[in-house]
Amino acid sequence: MLRFKSLGSGSAGNSTVVQAGNGLRQAHLLIDCGLGIRRLERQLGEAGVPASQLDAIFITHEHSDHIGCARSLAVKHRIPVWMSAGTFMAIGEPDLDGLLRIAADGAAIDLGALQVTPFAVPHDAREPLQLHCTDGDARLGVLTDLGHVTDHVLGHLAGCGSLLLECNHDAQMLAEGPYPWFLKRRVGGDYGHLANAAAAEAAKVLQPLGLRQVVAAHLSEKNNRPELARSALAGALGLADDHEDIHVATAAEGCGWLLA
Ligand SMILES: [Zn+2]
Ligand SMILES: [Zn+2]
Repeated sequence: MLRFKSLGSGSAGNSTVVQAGNGLRQAHLLIDCGLGIRRLERQLGEAGVPASQLDAIFITHEHSDHIGCARSLAVKHRIPVWMSAGTFMAIGEPDLDGLLRIAADGAAIDLGALQVTPFAVPHDAREPLQLHCTDGDARLGVLTDLGHVTDHVLGHLAGCGSLLLECNHDAQMLAEGPYPWFLKRRVGGDYGHLANAAAAEAAKVLQPLGLRQVVAAHLSEKNNRPELARSALAGALGLADDHEDIHVATAAEGCGWLLA
């Protein structure tokens, strides 16, 4: 059994919990800690995975909406925390009390019931990684914070049945929206964030390779609307806008548990 739940997603903070296995052989992974520690601990508890049960934390990159409370959560509960060497450098190489584990593009991480593979993405951070993971049966991809989809990214996501996929902005809303020009250029650039149309295009390419379910994530509050992201993804996959395999993770709640 492989299931996952966003605990909150957007430019203010991101965190996702993944659970693999059954009975005695289980693994729990937290991807990013971009929420306050109290909120994160509360939501993990409500989701049935208290922080003390986490086997690992994976930090995708150093931006504050992802790194958040990683250090305090890891140290408090003695959880190994994985990140790239570049991310560790970018956060100033803090003392992680022996809990630091270095992740690298293509280097699989064995968490027992869960196998995790990080891969590099184009984003304006030092060494950003996203990941896919499997319990040996189902496969989940997590892809947020990238300016454009590369062949390298698609190669890693081939075969994922479920995908948490950045739908950051609607290109027209970004162009006509309130951001200053330099921020528009950053967000919409090759190392910024993924537009709805680019996310939809990626989903379309991945569908014949096994993609069934998509969760739109990291939506901009100013430059996107949930129904636009949903409609772009549904259209690309040939589904009705309200199809049960299209979900939108919210900033406040994320989404419910989903089977990968
Ligand atoms: Zn982000
Ligand atoms: Zn970022």
